[in-house]
This record gives sequence, structure tokens and C-alpha cells, in this order.
Amino acid sequence: MITASAKLCATNFLTMSRYWSDVAKGLTPYVPGEQPKLANLVKLNTNENPYPPSPLVSQAIQAELGETGNNLRRYPDPNSEAVKAAIARYHQIEANQIFIGNGSDEVLAHVFLGLLKHRLPILFPDITYSFYPVYCGLYQVPFRTVPLHDGFVLRIDDYLVPNGGIIFPNPNAPTGRAIALAQIERLLQVNTDSVVVIDEAYVDFGGETAIPLITKYPNLLVIQTLSKARSLAGLRVGFAAGHVDLIEALTRVKDSFNSYPLDRLAIAGAVAAYEDVAYFEQTRQAVMATRERLTARLASLGFEVIPSSANFVFVRHPNRDARQLMLALRRQNILVRHFDLPRIEQYLRITIGTDAECDALVKALGN
Ligand SMILES: *Cc1c(COP(=O)(O)O)cnc(C)c1O
Repeated sequence: MITASAKLCATNFLTMSRYWSDVAKGLTPYVPGEQPKLANLVKLNTNENPYPPSPLVSQAIQAELGETGNNLRRYPDPNSEAVKAAIARYHQIEANQIFIGNGSDEVLAHVFLGLLKHRLPILFPDITYSFYPVYCGLYQVPFRTVPLHDGFVLRIDDYLVPNGGIIFPNPNAPTGRAIALAQIERLLQVNTDSVVVIDEAYVDFGGETAIPLITKYPNLLVIQTLSKARSLAGLRVGFAAGHVDLIEALTRVKDSFNSYPLDRLAIAGAVAAYEDVAYFEQTRQAVMATRERLTARLASLGFEVIPSSANFVFVRHPNRDARQLMLALRRQNILVRHFDLPRIEQYLRITIGTDAECDALVKALGN
């Protein structure tokens, strides 16, 4: 007997798949952390910043919108030059060494197609940002995963082999572990035949940026986002920094896909975010201070906490099942992220919230 829901499912599958391309049929999409529309939720599952963006951001967006929204009649600047200029000023590089995208996920997509798709497989850690294998599937990029060592340690020596490209986040996700810039430079000195991509989504919470190295190494591409340390996940702005020739490849892909990745409001908001350096310093320091406080309290509850340089901690309890813990927290309106994946199924990734949110978490864990 077929149950009603199974039948519905089967019908959907048949009617949908009939019109799908083989590409759509073959995809294994990324699954983002959930965004439930519930009030009173302590949301520690998607690494958003607990603090609002700089007040200059909403002022700039309001100004761009104006009384009537008349500016929105016109297309935005296709290359977001004002954002490039603001980022170039902040990082003391040239505007033509920067590529802007609609969130760093879009930048990454263009990187996989424009710089990482070759005959040889690209390399990335076995435990890392789960979007990388998804892009490989979408763009048919061959890849090989490189196991992290005990304690989720990334060793550069593992990457000193022929490859079509190398990509990893620093600090890594979802482990939070960072490697020193000297290690990345060691990789760049040996690996000169393919592009090395460092995804620095979390770098402002205690990592060291590789951006100063782009002038020395023409095959280094560094990717950052305004989603985490600048509290702008909802605005969708990310960028890549690298040699002009790498930027040119990304621009070619962009202009073959969507010429206007950033709308006018995003451009205005992103520029303002880079202007408020004092606010940025204050909020990232607050997140790091809360992380240290939460780490100590989790340790005193018996959790093993991987040393984190990010706005989350990756933790395991020696005798409490991670999935059960995640579900128990959920019943108390606290969301954390559990990945049902080999080697990490007993870990939880907990975003650093405000001190009050982290207190609520610690209290719930004690229940
Ligand atoms: C959050 C995250 C991104 C994506 O950021 P967006 O700019 O919001 O698309 C990219 N890489 C890693 C490792 C991340 O954690």
C-alpha cells in the first residue's frame, strides 16, 4: 500500500523530473542552516553576527533609496566600483585587485568555474565548508579531499602534490581552527602551478589575513564576506582579492552570468560598512570575548572545545550524543548546527551569540 504522502512524493518526482535537465537531476544542493520565523529563538546555528551592522549602513541605504526610490529605476554599477574602492582603501591594495559578488558564495561559484576547473583534481580538506563539493558537482570540477589530522589539524605538507587547485577556509569551518600565515606562504612557495584559494569568511575573529600576500603570489586568491564580522548576511556582499589576471577570469564568468550582482542598496550599505572601522573593531572584539567566556563554561560542563579563531565553537561531549543534544536544545528554542557527516557526527557547531544568548545556552545544557 502506498501512503498518501509517499504517493504525493512519487507523483512530484515523476511530474517534476520529466521536465528537468540532466544537470538538475544530477545536483546534490547545499543545505543551509534553517531560518525559522519563530519569536524568542536563540539562533546559534548559522554563524550570523549577534550585533546589528554599523548604523552608517542603514543611513547609507536610506540615502540611496531617497524619498521616492527614484534611484532604483536605474541599473546599479555592474562592477560595484565604490565597494572596490572602499575595500581597497581598507586593505591597502588596488581596486583592480578586487572582485565583488552577491555574497562570497557567488564569488566562490565563479572561482570554481573560472579558476578551479581543470584536468587535475582540486584539493580541499575532508572536513570543511560543505558548499565546495556542491560547486564541484554543479560545474563538474574533479576533486580529492585531504583528511585533517587528529584534532582537525590541517597540514600543509598534505597539499604539496600535483593538483588542479587548492581551497580551504582559514579559519576552517566548521572546526574554527586557523593556521598561521607562514604555513600558507610555505604552500605558495611550492605550489606555483595552480590557484590557491583561501576562504577567509571568519578571519576577523582571530585569524591572520593572507591579503598582503596577493602582491607577491600571482596564484593566490583570498575571499572574504561581509556576512559574518560585518553583520551583513542579509545584504549579500562578498569579494575576492588577487592578481588582476585572476580577477579578470572572475569578471569574465560574472559577465557571462549576471552583470549586476549587487543592487544599489547593497553597494551603498557595503561602502558604509567599511567606513565605520571603530564599530567593526568593537563588535568583533565583543564576539571574541564572548567566545572565550563560552569556551571556559562549556569546558567546565565537560565539553571538549576545539580551539576556535572564528565566531563559533565546535564541541563534543564525551558521553552525550550530539544529535540528541541538538534536539534537546531545540525543544528549549535554542538552535545549534549538527552535521550528520563522517568524523563529525558527535560534534555540534555553536555560533557565538550575545553574552545573554550564550548564558541561555549554558543554562539549557545544564538542564
Ligand atoms: C558563511 C561562509 C561563506 C558564505 O558567505 P556569504 O558571503 O554569506 O555567501 C563562505 N565560506 C565560508 C567558509 C562560510 O562559512
